[in-house]
Amino acid sequence: MNVCLVEDDLLLGRALKAFLEDNGQQVIWVRMAADARDRLHDEEFDAALVDLGLPDGEGIDLVKQLRRQGNHLPILIITARDTVNSRIEGLNAGADDYLVKPFDNSEMLARLRANLRRGRSWAAEPEILSGAGLAVDTHSRKVRCDESEISLSPTEFAILCELLRRKNHVRTRRQLESVAMPDSDSQSLDTHMSNLRRKLGRVNGNDRIRTVRGVGYVIDD
Ligand code: CA
Repeated sequence: MNVCLVEDDLLLGRALKAFLEDNGQQVIWVRMAADARDRLHDEEFDAALVDLGLPDGEGIDLVKQLRRQGNHLPILIITARDTVNSRIEGLNAGADDYLVKPFDNSEMLARLRANLRRGRSWAAEPEILSGAGLAVDTHSRKVRCDESEISLSPTEFAILCELLRRKNHVRTRRQLESVAMPDSDSQSLDTHMSNLRRKLGRVNGNDRIRTVRGVGYVIDD
C-alpha cells in the first residue's frame, strides 16, 4: 500500500517510515501540513497516518479538508493527545481510527490494513461494475462474462473489481496488490492475473485485461 505519513517529529517520522518500508509499504513522509495537503491532492494514496500537532497547522484541519474535498482514503490519526475529547474530535473530523503515542508499530500496520479493507467494503459504489463485455454485481458477487456467469476466487474478484472501477486507467502492480492482496507477496499477482485472464477468455484474440509493459494492467472499454 502507498502511505502518506504526516509527522513533524524527526525521530518518530524516520522510525515509522523505516518500519513501513521494511514491511513492504511505500511511504511518502512529509512534516508540514501544507506539504501534506499538496501531496494528498496531487498523488494517489491508499492510506494516511496523520499527526495532530504540526508546525504549520492542526492535523485535524487537514483531515476535515480532505473529507470536504471528497477524499475517502483511510486516515489513521497518531497523536500523544490521549483524551476522550480529542479522540472524538478526530473521529468526528472524518478520521477512521486513532492511535495514541507511543504505540506498537505492528499494531499500527495492522490497523492501517484493517481500515483499508473496511474502507473498501464501505465505500459507496454502484452495484454493477461493467466494461469489456463484463458485468460484476458487487453485492451478490456474481460475475457475468458475455452473458455467461463465471466463478472467481476472492482475489481474482477483487482484482477485476479494481480494474473495472478505474476502467481505461492503468493500475500499477502495486496498486492491484495493495487492493486485492494486501498481505501476500508480489510474486503471486502474476498467478492470480493469469488465472483471471483464463477465466475471462479473449475478445477478438485479445485479453480483456491489457498489460502495459513495465507499468501495470488496464481494462479498456
Ligand atoms: Ca507533532
